[in-house]
Amino acid sequence: MLNSKEMQPRGPANSRDTYHLIGSEPQQSALFFETPSEIYARVLKDLKPRTPLPDIRVEYRRYANANSSIRLEEGRLTVKIADILEGAPAPILEALAYILLGKLYRRPIPARYTHRYRLYLNRRDMRQKMQLVRQIRGRKFVSGPEGASHNLEEIFERLNREYFEGLLGRPLLGWSRRPARGILGHFDPSHNAIIISRIFDNPATPALALEYVMFHEMLHLRYPVDHHGVRRRVHTREFRQAEKAFPKLEEAKDLLKKL
Ligand SMILES: [Zn+2]
Repeated sequence: MLNSKEMQPRGPANSRDTYHLIGSEPQQSALFFETPSEIYARVLKDLKPRTPLPDIRVEYRRYANANSSIRLEEGRLTVKIADILEGAPAPILEALAYILLGKLYRRPIPARYTHRYRLYLNRRDMRQKMQLVRQIRGRKFVSGPEGASHNLEEIFERLNREYFEGLLGRPLLGWSRRPARGILGHFDPSHNAIIISRIFDNPATPALALEYVMFHEMLHLRYPVDHHGVRRRVHTREFRQAEKAFPKLEEAKDLLKKL
């Protein structure tokens, strides 16, 4: 993915939270016989010992992702969890409970819980499951390569010949529905599609800017994301090295900053 923030210098990865839980001792891992709502009740008691427990309902929903949400309304706490997490071990559900309840009550979330949860989602089997649910349940709108001023297929094939010896298989190509300035392009591996922001489909847009965004997304097609522990490295060293093959790289990046 290429977003406009990427044009700015990058800070360290946000995977090292330095928050600590205030006022109570860390609990041991979830007990294996707890139901999901019992886990939420226990975590809530730990976070807010004096608050009377609301009615707690935990539902698993058919989502095309691993999202979860929490809501407190009229004394009822509703937690919706993606069904991809339905078989998750209790310590994972416990970690998610700390994350969601921490967000709900604006409490710092202890790093060990975010770490534990991310590590689980980053497991190979979980990533495969997620890719599958995205493919099956996620709807993908792909406009096709022909825009008003530019044809993405032409650009793809030209760059393919010039930089990839024509070896990249052509994915679905399309323009984003809206002329987004935030996300300039992205490669979606679940649907094998490169989507380019419609902001570029304009005769006034410098061809170099559009070509660079396409080139960047083609590199994502060529260099898969590197998963290691909780880390997910999208722009690997190899990726960055290969990107340097693009002539006028700095000029192109400058153009994107001025969009
Ligand atoms: Zn990228």
